[in-house]
Formats: sequence, structure tokens, C-alpha cells
Amino acid sequence: MPSTKHELTLLSPIEDVPGVGSRRGEAFRRLGIPSVAHLVFHLPHRHEREEAEAPITALIPGAVVTARGEVTATDMVPRGRKPRFHAVLADHTGRLDLIWFHGGYLRDKIHPGMRLLVQGKAKSHPRSAPGQGALQLINPKWEKLPETDDPPAIAETRLRPVYPASEELSSQAIEAAVAGVLGQALPLIEDHLPPHFRKERELPELAEAYRMMHAPRDTDEISAARRRLAYDELLLLQLGVHLRRAELRRTMHAPALRWTAEIDGRILARIPFALTPGQRRVIDELIGDLTKPTPANRLIQGDVGSGKTVVALYAMLLAVASHQQAALLAPTELLAEQHAQSIAALLEGSQVRIELLTGSLTPAERSAALRRIESGRADIVVGTHAVLTERTTFADLAVAVIDEQHRFGVRQRATLREKSGDESSMPHTIVMTATPIPRTLSLTIFGDLDVSTIPDLPPGRRPIVTTVLPEREAAVAYEAMRARLDKGEQGYIVVPAVDAEELRNVRTTMERLEHGALAGRKLAAVHGRLKRQTRDAIMARFRAGKIDALIATTVIEVGVDVPNATTMIVEHAERFGLAQLHQLRGRVGRGSADSACFLIGDPSTPDAQSRLEALATTTDGFALAERDFEIRGPGELFGARQSGLPPFRVADLMRDLDLLRMARRDAQAWIDKSPTLDAPTEALLKRRLLKAYGVELGLGDVA
Ligand code: ADP
Ligand code: MG
Repeated sequence: MPSTKHELTLLSPIEDVPGVGSRRGEAFRRLGIPSVAHLVFHLPHRHEREEAEAPITALIPGAVVTARGEVTATDMVPRGRKPRFHAVLADHTGRLDLIWFHGGYLRDKIHPGMRLLVQGKAKSHPRSAPGQGALQLINPKWEKLPETDDPPAIAETRLRPVYPASEELSSQAIEAAVAGVLGQALPLIEDHLPPHFRKERELPELAEAYRMMHAPRDTDEISAARRRLAYDELLLLQLGVHLRRAELRRTMHAPALRWTAEIDGRILARIPFALTPGQRRVIDELIGDLTKPTPANRLIQGDVGSGKTVVALYAMLLAVASHQQAALLAPTELLAEQHAQSIAALLEGSQVRIELLTGSLTPAERSAALRRIESGRADIVVGTHAVLTERTTFADLAVAVIDEQHRFGVRQRATLREKSGDESSMPHTIVMTATPIPRTLSLTIFGDLDVSTIPDLPPGRRPIVTTVLPEREAAVAYEAMRARLDKGEQGYIVVPAVDAEELRNVRTTMERLEHGALAGRKLAAVHGRLKRQTRDAIMARFRAGKIDALIATTVIEVGVDVPNATTMIVEHAERFGLAQLHQLRGRVGRGSADSACFLIGDPSTPDAQSRLEALATTTDGFALAERDFEIRGPGELFGARQSGLPPFRVADLMRDLDLLRMARRDAQAWIDKSPTLDAPTEALLKRRLLKAYGVELGLGDVA
């Protein structure tokens, strides 16, 4: 039994809303609106100005207009099976053309002599000719008026909400439903922010914000409502982040590692070059973290080639010096292998036991390795990120370094907790990335990260000159590469696929170059489908200078470090992301010779074009990260896919930076005063916070 109008609550099913009923209810539910609350929270994505009813000559082109008059002519314009219906509406001031596409059904409904009230968006007539009205309405809504009707009711100009709608449910239908419940629903909406807090920030009350969103009196009201609702989203997220941080600090501990000048000296003796000032500063920040019994959570940003590996090595050796374990996790096997090799080389002759854990171990090798890790017979474990998700148990993991993973999420970090047998302890976490988090984002989900930056590159690096070329000028790039190879330098050719037919792929590129531009040079292919031994052998020969150029997929994207390689050519560059291209380019420019990078591609979208242009203009990874953020927008970066968090409904990280800063400051202060949000006055706030972000932020324990 549908309940009566008077009994509506926020929890009432959508079917109870006046005019909805069970059939429409289905359509609402399919749009994610099962209840009155969901209906009120279904916000318009924009507003349209709807002008007051006016005489025809006073109608404003571009606006949604309302007019009335007499039909003076009608016409059917045949168009196959979908004829158009035309009508002319006239009042004492002028005439208006009405056009309905697929309007055949109107032939029997609208006749000359009838009086109509019409509403629609007014467009200037494309070919205004004498005898035609200056304005037309396409597919207007219409209503028949009595023969002699009253003078026009002076309807008011208003801002009409436009809702996200579906094929079966129009924005108008949603508007009508909202209008039917708003009066009853608004008084039931409780505000989770205390009045004095709102007043200080000039934020409207929550119910009032919803009213102003659905039925604004003017555009200022829309802005005020937006501001409140956007602030709420940002504040809840920030509170969640800070709540979690406070909780971790209170309940979790990590091994406090020992640091002495003597240990420092011993570690530095292993590093064959002087640290850059940036590296040293970051190492000092790490020492500060690792010698405390609270789990560190630090992001180290440093451009490609800035020397993050030795910083990681320092942290790991600090663990080893305290007789604890460390892990270094890389995004690809190739990189893990290379890390293991270079660390082994640096630590040659020491007691430190390194364990390389990759997917290419035999089952027997693997279980032997896992046993060594579990029993503490391995000091430094090097593997891929998969080590985190697999059932690897450590004897006493003190430091986990996650390399090249700037989106190391909250959930992944949570898996680290399980890596130590003790429920209340977790390793110090260090995430390293060459793709810095744009400033805005670093204030949001990454709000609980401490960030260190290596701003400088090791001395003696030469600039990389980047050239963007269209496909038909690719020969220029290969000519340049040939000249370099002839001087004994090496190069990379990157293609997007191993053998996909529609793209330049490893196989066909190899054939083409062997018999063309690079004939007579020693070429080899590397890609993810090769066996590890084969790939290792090729990389070793490349490093030894026995191969001139590698034709590769993005397996070489990160970490590959061959200083003699000075030319990079990327085919179909438009297919790669900006960060990826920056990483790829970082494979050259590692030695003392000048390097060149050629991006070959015919970008078909403005975004792809901007990406390539950005790369040609700068080699600064920080500038590129900001640019990438601008091009792609936060939706991409902040989307559920990347971060595991639901996207904002109202807040817009580009636009609302000031609100974000305010929310962050407020959340910090709030949690400092009330670290668990357990005051009775905070109950509603906490409930809403947990509902919005609890799962994603791993706030289960707090709930
Ligand atoms: P990334 O930050 O991209 O991971 P790496 O750690 O791979 O960079 O370092 C790039 C190269 O620079 C390596 O060959 C490394 O040995 C070298 N390197 C790192 N730090 C220094 C330094 N302070 N002086 C000279 N060379 C350095
Ligand atoms: Mg690196």
C-alpha cells in the first residue's frame, strides 16, 4: 500500500513519491534512486535559465522561453518514415516557428486556429527570410489553451535544474518528483556540522544547501550551495585521512632502527659516488623516520635519474644494521632483476644476503626462497609489487621500499600490516616515484603521506633534446640514430605492441629496420613475452655494448640504466601517456654524452597533441606532472580506478583548491582535538564519514 503524502520520510521508497508509482519507480531505481533520500541527494549537474513568459518578439535567443499564441499554419515535411511537423505560432507582436522532428503524430493534434502555450529553447532562425519568424523552437513542449484564454500569467524567470537523467526518465520527470518531496524532505535533513562552525566559514545549513541546489532563486544561491556541498565532501575525506593517520600512530608500531655516525660511514663507503645535496637531505629525513617506533609512510619524489635507488639502499642497509629485514619492490621483473644485480654489485664482499623473488623461479626455488625469507636468512628481498599481495611472510620486515609506484594506495599499504606476524606492528613504508603527485592531489588521499623531494640530478648530466615528428618524417629520426650508432653509442626504439597487426610492433619494426634504416647494425628485441633467461642475456649484451639498438615494448619503461644509450625513438608516441613517455625518455641522458629523443606520432586528439608538445618543451618531471594533471583532469587521476575512492559528486579539485586547503586545515585541527570523533555531537558526522570513505580508507577498526 502506498503510504499517503503526509508520511513521507527520507527512507520512504521512491514509489511513494507523488506521481512516481511502481512503473516509474523502476526507472528511478535503475538510475540509482531507490528512496526519497536518494532523490534529494540526486543533484542537478547544471541549471538552465528559464525566461518568464513573454511576447514573441521579446523572446531571447538561447534561453528556454515560454510563449503563447495562435497557430496560423501547419505543414508536414516528409522525411522517409520520420516526417517533421512544422507550425507557425503568432501573437500580436510577431511569429515563432515550431519544429518537431519525428512529429508525424502531431498532424491530427495541432491545427491552424488553435491556441497553444509552448516552451523550449529559442534558436535564431538559421536562414531567416521575410515571412519567417526570427526565432524557432525545436521539439518544444506544448499545451492546448482554451479559445479565449486569460492574458498570460506572469510566470517568473527562474533557474531550472537539469538532472542527470536516462533514456526512460527525463530531467523534467526527476524535477517533478523532487518538487513533490522537497518541502517534506528538507526539514528531515540533519546537519552534521555545528552551527558555529558553519557560521565561521559562511557555509549555509545542509538542508538549505539542498534547497538552493534544487530550487535556486538566483545564481548566488547555486554557488553557495555548491560551496557547502563541495566543502563537505572534501572535509569528510580529510577527516577520514587524518582519523586513520591518528589511529595508526596510536595503535601501530614499527621497529625503531639504530643510527650512528659509524653506521652512516659504513653505508656511505658502499656507495661509489658522492651523494647529491638532495639525496643527503632525503636520507636525513628518512633517518628521522626510521629511528622512531611509529611506522613511517614517506613518499620520495625524484625525477628520472635523480638517484633514488641509493637512497632506498641506505634505508635498507639501516634495517640490516639493526639485524632486521628490508624489501625492495619494483613494478616489473626486469627492474627487480636489475635492482638485485646493482645492489649485489654495491654490496659485494659484505655479509648482506640478497634474495631475488620473481615469477620466473621454479616452484622448488621459490619455496626455498620463501623459507629463507620467513626464517630471517635473507636480509634484503627484491621482487615485484606482487610480493605484497602474495603470501610472503617475513621474519622481521622493518623497511619496505616500493619503487616507481606513485599510486601506492591505502589498501596496498594495509597489506603490509599482514607481512609481520604481530598484529600491531608494520614496517616503515617508503614509496619512490619519478611521477610526482600534483600538489592538489597530494592534499587529498595522499594527505597522510610525508613527502620528500630530490630536486637535483647527479652532476654531469647532459640535456636530452626532444623532437616530435609526424609519421611521414620518421626517417629523420632513424638517420639521427644511425649517425649515433656509428659513433659507438646505443639506442632504443619503443613500439606499443609485440605483434598487434594494426600497430607498429616489435616484429615488423625489427624486419623493417634490419632491411632498411638500420641495416648492418646489431639489433635485438625485448618484450614481456620473452623468457627471463633470454631477456637477461639480451640486456647483458646490450649493457656490454654488443647490441647497438634495442627494439622494445614498454618493459624498458622504468629503471633500465645504460649510460651509453643516447637515442630513443618512440613509435606511435600518441598512444602513450605523458608520465610513461617521460619515463621512457629517462632511459637516455644517463651518461656524459648529449642525448636525443624522437617522438613519432600523428596525434588525433587535442589531448594527445598537448602531451607531445609538453614533452618537447620540458624535461622537468615536476612540471610535466602538473601539466598532465591539467590535461587529464582530476577525474582520471582521482577516479575510482586509480585510488579506490569514489569520485566527488560536487567538489572539483581544479576549481576548489581553496576549499580543499580549508578542509584540510579544519580536519587537522578537528582530529587534533578529537582524535577518534567519538563525542556524541560528532556521531552523525562520523557515520557519514564512514559511509562515504570508510571502506576505501580502511577505517574498519575505527568504526
Ligand atoms: P632513479 O631516481 O631514476 O631511480 P637511479 O637510482 O637509477 O635513478 O640512478 C640513476 C643513475 O645515477 C645510476 O646509474 C646511479 O648509479 C647514478 N647516481 C645516483 N646518484 C648519483 C650521484 N650522487 N652521483 C653520481 N651518480 C649517481
Ligand atoms: Mg629508479
